[in-house]
Amino acid sequence: MFDVLSRGFKDARLKLQGKTRLTEENLAPALREVRASLIQADVELTVVKAFVARVKERSLGDVVKLKGRKASPNVSPQDHFIKSCYDELVELMGPVQTDLNLEGDPSIIMMVGLQGSGKTTTAGKLAKMLVAQGKKPLLVAADIYRPAAIDQLMVIGRRLGVPVFSIKGMNPVQLSKMAVVQARNVGRDVVIIDTAGRLALDDKLMQEVVDIKSTVNPDNVLFVVDAMIGQDAVRTAAEFDRRLDFTGFVLTKLDGDARGGAALSIKEVTGKPVKFLGEGEELDKLEAFRPEGLAQRILGFGDVVGLMQDFEKHVDEKTAQKSTEKMLKGEFSYDDFISQLQTVRKMGSIRDIMGKIPGLSGMLDQIPAEALDDKELDKAMAVIRSMTNQERNFPDVINESRMIRIAKGCGRELHDIRELHERFLQARQMMGQLGGLMGNPAQMMQMQKMMKQMQGGGGGGGFPGMGGMPGMGGGFPGMDGMPGMGGGERKSISAAEKIAKRKKAKDKKKARKRNRK
Ligand code: GDP
Repeated sequence: MFDVLSRGFKDARLKLQGKTRLTEENLAPALREVRASLIQADVELTVVKAFVARVKERSLGDVVKLKGRKASPNVSPQDHFIKSCYDELVELMGPVQTDLNLEGDPSIIMMVGLQGSGKTTTAGKLAKMLVAQGKKPLLVAADIYRPAAIDQLMVIGRRLGVPVFSIKGMNPVQLSKMAVVQARNVGRDVVIIDTAGRLALDDKLMQEVVDIKSTVNPDNVLFVVDAMIGQDAVRTAAEFDRRLDFTGFVLTKLDGDARGGAALSIKEVTGKPVKFLGEGEELDKLEAFRPEGLAQRILGFGDVVGLMQDFEKHVDEKTAQKSTEKMLKGEFSYDDFISQLQTVRKMGSIRDIMGKIPGLSGMLDQIPAEALDDKELDKAMAVIRSMTNQERNFPDVINESRMIRIAKGCGRELHDIRELHERFLQARQMMGQLGGLMGNPAQMMQMQKMMKQMQGGGGGGGFPGMGGMPGMGGGFPGMDGMPGMGGGERKSISAAEKIAKRKKAKDKKKARKRNRK
């Protein structure tokens, strides 16, 4: 997703390499790159023009402001330019207006959009989100023309334990009206109406949704749009908005390889806010829209903020710091390992997490499938759970006869256990050595080489958690200052750096003592 745009912004940044200040002349080639990539990504032409003009104005304006304040020598013109692009992207797509109006009795959410845009799936995702917020939704199958759509909603409803209102053959306007009465009678507080879509704009269909709207008077009309459609999406959105005056839109399939132009255009063209992003087919793949996160993804820095927020939700920083310190002293236990794996798992699938890491999102295809296989992690967890407390906390006690018992306990072969254990010990030892070497650049380089060899050579059928995996490879968020992974800006000092700093200070102190003697 957003590859074309990311490449464009990166190339634009390169055009400013070596420049000591931003001028109208040297900015021009960079702006041309941005303009070309926006057009290629299917952003609407008027939006492209306005965006480029605003980036230019902001970039040059910043220079003026900085001149006034005696510009900081640490901020390069390249960084200024990217920061201006970021600010303008946020402005273009924002502000955050992700709240739904849930004041009604019941509140009504109407889903509209073209066929295949993801209305039914998003209706299910919203129902799931609302249940988690303590609401009692009722799903309404108002797409009566496609029996498959009704069945699809029934399946979703059953999976979520949410009732689905459907009367085969009934006119959708009547049906929606009855559903609202029914919700009131049975105490459901949010009605989600899944309306019919067509493959293209169609007057009859439009009239039908207009009639549903004027009959049930919904609190929210969400226009669902597939991010893959590009320019067409903008025209469709504008027409739906003209007829329905929707309250906001949901951009789906952002997990695909769409060029993403629609994300940038619709808000600007309709003036309506993006409410949610659909990031996958599963029902938990709905995110409240944050322009900052999307802007970072578009610029190709990965969604660092989103990832850090996910992580903060799931981990207590002190615990993370402690386990890094333990790891770097070579005292890492299976219990520490499991708690890391659990944190990672709470954040989503390995693939999702890696997709958000700066510098890694573009490399997903090159990573062996088994290294991204969540099932392999589950298997490793099952093995570790078959260990006794003592074995988990003091892995060195694990001998052959213990391995035989563990294998029986989790239903795996002895060689699987042996392999997991060997790789665990190897990784632990390596981490310990790494901790000892911090601060010695020559040895650090040697160690990096060793790690690369281990990760490359470890492949094929092993436990992914042990080699190049986030849990063990030092690339774990919070464990090693995640934003630094892709070589991006890192402001906060990581646990590993803190240990290295402390060690350096100690060594200095020792040297001073020695000199005094
Ligand atoms: P509707 O015709 O508008 O109701 O669209 P559906 O909800 O039936 O979705 C059409 C197809 O898109 C289905 O195969 C969905 O699984 C898929 N889909 C919906 N939302 C997403 C999403 O966010 N990401 C991906 N990858 N697929 C999605």
